[in-house]
Amino acid sequence: MKKYRITLIPGDGIGPEITEVTKRCIEATGIKIEWEQCEAGIPAIEKFNNPLPADTIESINRNKVCLKGPITTPVGTGYRSINVALRQIFNLYACVRPFKIFTGARTLYQELDLVIVRENMEDLYAGIEFEMGKKETFKIIQTIAHLSNRNISEDSGISVKPISVSGSEKIVRFAFEYARKNKRKKVTAVHKANIMKFTDGLFLDVARKIAANYPDIEFEDRIVDNMAMQLVQKPQKYDVLVCPNLYGDILSDLCAGLVGGLGLSPGANYGDNVAIFEPTHGSAPKYAGKNVVNPSAQILAAALMLRYIGETEAAEKLESALADVIKEGRYTTYDFKPEGTPGAGTVEMGNAIIKRMIG
Ligand code: NAD
Repeated sequence: MKKYRITLIPGDGIGPEITEVTKRCIEATGIKIEWEQCEAGIPAIEKFNNPLPADTIESINRNKVCLKGPITTPVGTGYRSINVALRQIFNLYACVRPFKIFTGARTLYQELDLVIVRENMEDLYAGIEFEMGKKETFKIIQTIAHLSNRNISEDSGISVKPISVSGSEKIVRFAFEYARKNKRKKVTAVHKANIMKFTDGLFLDVARKIAANYPDIEFEDRIVDNMAMQLVQKPQKYDVLVCPNLYGDILSDLCAGLVGGLGLSPGANYGDNVAIFEPTHGSAPKYAGKNVVNPSAQILAAALMLRYIGETEAAEKLESALADVIKEGRYTTYDFKPEGTPGAGTVEMGNAIIKRMIG
């Protein structure tokens, strides 16, 4: 049997607990993986005084596939997001987040199955920011006043929102190819082109042009605020959403709410050569080490990874064992229970999934 070599980043907060359970679940599918375990985030700072050591980057470069737990980003100060840095380093321009309702999850609706394809490199996430009060910031404020005759208050901080034709083409094409490959029927482009004509407007123009090459797939667009309301009221009308970075981020959490919470929402970041699989949620530090959080998003991210490496049968086995455990409801974590009711532990839920696979 083929043995894979894959980079594993447990991350920090709840990351080590959910990745450990996930590793055991993958093993129970029968797939053989030699994990190259690497540090990033808080444990990497503690060990190497560097939140993203060169060894971790080299390992991903070598193996091309990485399963990653969540990593804390300090707010306001300290280092920039390691998650964003990894996407930038490996040019992981497409973030794919499938949202599916599992019977047994606490949800408003019975059924939902949609996918968000989020642009991962540009927009306000590009990390081009100027701090309030700095010399460069004043310079930019003056330049803008000179070029556009518009005054920005001198006590402002500035974040830059670049959206390019090439970046938009890449992500929209990816969304249509994804739709075709996965037998999806419709792509909806999300934007605020009525207000931001030169960024979101550009994204929409590109989306319309690319859509013309895919007559077999329906195309439409929605303004992001309307999209948010529609997703709450009639999410079943949507299939694949293609979004610039920030809207994709926000709508992902909205959709996570629709399928029962962040604990059920996996994600994959794809570049041309490298792919990193992770849950949508963060490191939930208040639950770290308590054996209470839901491992499903990490396990579903692993299922996406198994599909990516061609192990479709193992991915189906894993997803179906997870679906059975959620449906039965005996060994599910707190987020499947009515508010204030304790649930099973992370490890116990993992054990129940493994038992379904190996008896
Ligand atoms: P979070 O996603 O970590 O947690 C928010 C809340 O969601 C938790 O308090 C909990 O109630 C719930 N939750 C999250 N994961 C869960 C799970 N598996 N099971 C059950 N409930 C779960 O968001 P946050 O508190 O805003 O962020 C914490 C840290 O994680 C921050 O530093 C943030 O920057 C970082 N973060 C990292 C990633 C990533 O690694 N890709 C993504 C988002 C946030």
